[in-house]
Amino acid sequence: MPHINSELHKIKRIAILGSTGSIGTQTLEVMDAHPSLFEVEVLTAANNVDLLIQQAIKYKPNVVVIQNEFHYSKLSLALSSLPIKVYAGDEALAQVVEMDSVDMVVMAIVGFAGLKPTLNAIDARKPIAIANKETFVVAGQLVTQKAKAAGVNLYPVDSEHSAIFQCLAGEFHNPLEKIILTASGGPFRGKNLDFLSNVTPAMALKHPNWSMGAKITIDSASLMNKGLEVIEAYWLFGLKVSQIQVLVHPQSIIHSMVQFADGSIKAQLGLPDMKLPIQYALSYPHRLPNSFLRMDFAAYSQLTFEEPDTETFQNLNLAFQALENGGNIPCILNAANEMAVDAFLKEKIRFTDMPHLIRYAMNQATPILKPSFEDLFETDLNTRLLISNVINNKSTIWKD
Ligand code: NDP
Ligand code: MG
Repeated sequence: MPHINSELHKIKRIAILGSTGSIGTQTLEVMDAHPSLFEVEVLTAANNVDLLIQQAIKYKPNVVVIQNEFHYSKLSLALSSLPIKVYAGDEALAQVVEMDSVDMVVMAIVGFAGLKPTLNAIDARKPIAIANKETFVVAGQLVTQKAKAAGVNLYPVDSEHSAIFQCLAGEFHNPLEKIILTASGGPFRGKNLDFLSNVTPAMALKHPNWSMGAKITIDSASLMNKGLEVIEAYWLFGLKVSQIQVLVHPQSIIHSMVQFADGSIKAQLGLPDMKLPIQYALSYPHRLPNSFLRMDFAAYSQLTFEEPDTETFQNLNLAFQALENGGNIPCILNAANEMAVDAFLKEKIRFTDMPHLIRYAMNQATPILKPSFEDLFETDLNTRLLISNVINNKSTIWKD
């Protein structure tokens, strides 16, 4: 469990990986409000070179990295008059977290691409505010074991996991009965398969409560997001599968709950705003004052709860199944899902095709019980090839 850092007075130099995304830009907003506590040391993006240039000019980090090397010349030209080091490519992205001048890493890259930099940050003994849930899905065992061995703290940014972390403060040695992960149910809660088979990307990208990057928004609409979060919670909090309950709570006010051995339940509440869990991860164990909107209980005449509809939204059960199977199976689930989401966004497949593709990939698996990083890398690649082949060849082999 994280130990208390009383050095709040010392400025923290932060590397934000994925600074141009939803979490990345909100991290900068949080840091803006506390200039005496946080300083930007590293900023990175994949393709959004224009925003990265703007951010670099504003925050003057020591280093910027653009993952897609194609954009390197534009980036380095735009920043040539500033004392900012400019790098490009996956290797640079993974290595930048190791710099002595980095005090904390905010891992806000989406997808499998976050894994290597996270492992490098752990090896370099940097505390990590981790939003990238796919890292836990793909390599939960590897990441948590490495972090424990290196004494590196992983501070959850995902709102549900931050909520559980906040409920556990001061309770780390008390036995848990279970955690209750809340889910909004997404934009298609209550809809049937007929309806879902005709939804468009634009419809799926309209989340009722949260404004997020495209991939996680589709995951929220398909309930895969909650499945990934179940696996994330399993590894972050060292739980048994039977100790994780998912509960639909459409208002997204209770961000999650913990039930202790005496039956007492603690919940963390607030308006849906990712800046709060981001700030808590940056400032733990301290709570910093801020001007975020406050919740008014009188404005919520009811907070409601219901079971998730796992017959219509099959992804949640697929994630539980992957977690039960263990080894490299969650990595397959993740890669197949990343490919399926991308294909849905490009209108190559229907919304309802996604769970079929994922199940097909899981059924084709060559299981590896204790995968190394190289095994996971290969599993990820092979799964992507498998899915892209069936999608591009318009094969229907996966339609069970
Ligand atoms: P976005 O898509 O908004 O941002 C992703 C960031 O990662 C961007 O900076 C993007 O760069 C960069 N990136 C994308 N692909 C690569 C790659 N292959 N290599 C390096 N960098 C890459 O995502 P979100 O901010 O929504 O989500 C980030 C992570 O946080 C996800 O794992 C998500 O599940 C998790 N999360 C997000 C929440 C949210 O509210 N958004 C809530 C809880 C968790 P570019 O802009 O150039 O494409
Ligand atoms: Mg979440």
